[in-house]
Amino acid sequence: MTITPHDPGTYLVTSETVDGDSYMVDMGDPERPDGACSCTDYTMRIEPLIARGQVPVRTRCKHLRAVAKWIELACQRKKIVDTVTSFCHVQRVR
Ligand SMILES: [Zn+2]
Repeated sequence: MTITPHDPGTYLVTSETVDGDSYMVDMGDPERPDGACSCTDYTMRIEPLIARGQVPVRTRCKHLRAVAKWIELACQRKKIVDTVTSFCHVQRVR
């Protein structure tokens, strides 16, 4: 799984299972503090529950968990690009 920062707050994550496939992870949506992902796990299982106002058991697919960990490590090491800096800031404020 490779994580590449894309637009501010968004990350491109390559698929482990399907060669050449990648998913867009959006950590910048204030309405979704746990982030959103374009994979089927998120869009078919997690997103519909959130859309109905329910609280899913898991709010993050494996891509979201990977990106959250990546950001956490980047913040700790301070080897961070501007978009991630602002995310660290957002995390601290919350
Ligand atoms: Zn995903």
